[in-house]
Amino acid sequence: MYFSSEKGLRVKDHISDYLKTIPQYTPAEMLRMIDSYGYIGQEKAKKAVSLMAFRHINRLRKIYLEGVDKFILPSKENYLMIGPTGCGKTFLVEILFNRILKLPTVVIDITSFSETGYVGQDPVTLLTRLIHNAEGDPYTASIGIVCIDEFDKLSSGKNNAVFSGAGTTKDVSGLGVQRELLKMLEGADVDVPLSITHSSYAERVTFNTSNVAFIACGAFSGFKRLLDITKQGGIGFGRPTNKDEDGKKVAVSFKRADIEKVVYFESYGMMPELIGRFSRIVPFQALGKDDLKTILQRNTINQYSQELELEGVKLVIEEEVLDHVVEDALKRETGARALKYSLLEYLEDACFDMYSAEKKWKEVRLFKNKDEIEWEAS
Ligand code: ADP
Repeated sequence: MYFSSEKGLRVKDHISDYLKTIPQYTPAEMLRMIDSYGYIGQEKAKKAVSLMAFRHINRLRKIYLEGVDKFILPSKENYLMIGPTGCGKTFLVEILFNRILKLPTVVIDITSFSETGYVGQDPVTLLTRLIHNAEGDPYTASIGIVCIDEFDKLSSGKNNAVFSGAGTTKDVSGLGVQRELLKMLEGADVDVPLSITHSSYAERVTFNTSNVAFIACGAFSGFKRLLDITKQGGIGFGRPTNKDEDGKKVAVSFKRADIEKVVYFESYGMMPELIGRFSRIVPFQALGKDDLKTILQRNTINQYSQELELEGVKLVIEEEVLDHVVEDALKRETGARALKYSLLEYLEDACFDMYSAEKKWKEVRLFKNKDEIEWEAS
């Protein structure tokens, strides 16, 4: 059921009714709830994003429920999250906006998008997906969240010092998509198709983005190296500096000072106007050994042990195996994502035999024998 924009009053009532259903948590309550969903670490980022979520809802409540003139309130805010892959950027958006606040939320990998008219998905269909997520209602969608993942891949790649070998070849179309995003991020009326397939024939709505919060996420690999080069005052061919004090390779973390200047993003191939549309750039840290182990113990193992429990089988994993899996994950440099792959690899044989066995098993135990991970069953 749609409400025509001419019937302004009804649209307002409709959004007000919807807003009343959104829980009114304080930022501190949101922070605690994020933890209760098994989110580990990233204390500063978690705080920044909880506050952003609170202010997003608070601003909307003021406009739609308290009748405050929107022109005296600050405009909606967009955030840019940067940090290594698998450190919890999109996971945080998903937990907070989708599961806790239940706002219309989409997380979209932007790499398959191209400028309108080119092969690839049209950037306006980001909003089509948001409307789908709001069960087809463009008005509740208009206060939702669009999370643009792999945002850094839109870089025009003009700086060869950074991109040689980085595998990023998005060129003109990357800039084209950036230009189209700029309009949406600013807050504009956009003509949006209601279905993605054959979008040129689809029914369309005029969708206003001035209350949609955009959150862009990216690893910005090579950014650190660019900073080092820029700070040294020239282009060089040094090795990337992603080593910690012991010389061990670690995923790169960003500090505040590193990302403050828009000019660095421009050198990276991002439009300065677009970066300027983000009111806050939130750095995420690479997950260290302890955080990865906690995630493994609290979340990853749980998923598998619950599955086995349903078969009446207890999963026992020895401490040494946990450390081994964490070391594996650190080597892969894909953050917490690697934990699951690594653990599954070790469990595969055991599960294969367990599901194929004629007699029910009681327990599967993973243990370390010299450098190998082995398993036994009873
Ligand atoms: P990215 O930073 O690349 O967006 P994701 O947020 O998609 O990474 O993380 C991938 C997966 O790793 C998540 O689905 C989650 O299972 C796990 N994960 C990542 N970071 C955390 C974290 N801080 N706490 C708990 N789990 C995490």
